[in-house]
Formats: sequence, structure tokens, C-alpha cells
Amino acid sequence: MPARDFFHSVMRIGPVQIGTHRDRHGRTKYAAVCSRDNCGWSADYSTQSAAQLAARTHRCRITD
Ligand SMILES: [Zn+2]
Repeated sequence: MPARDFFHSVMRIGPVQIGTHRDRHGRTKYAAVCSRDNCGWSADYSTQSAAQLAARTHRCRITD
């Protein structure tokens, strides 16, 4: 997972953490990041609802 400056976690859905950070233009972005070590999935969204939808539909390839 790349280091994210000013990443503020706001919620967790399953293994996916959602948080806000600022992009290089100073705009707030919503990042969904899978917390499982061997998955590495993450994506940025412009709205929290989009990040939540992505978190819910993320099919983690790492199973318990
Ligand atoms: Zn995952």
C-alpha cells in the first residue's frame, strides 16, 4: 500500500478501510484500501458513497 499523507480513516467495511485524503490539488478524495496484507487493492473516489460501494463489492482474493 502506498503511503498516504493525511489519511483519515472514517469507516471499515469488511476488510476494506475507507478514509479521506487530499490529492495534489488539495481536493478531498475518498480512498478505499483493503487491509489484508497480501491483497494490496486500493482505489480513490471523489465521493464517499462511491468508495463505500466499491468496498462492499470488493471481492478479496485473500480468504480467511
Ligand atoms: Zn482485498
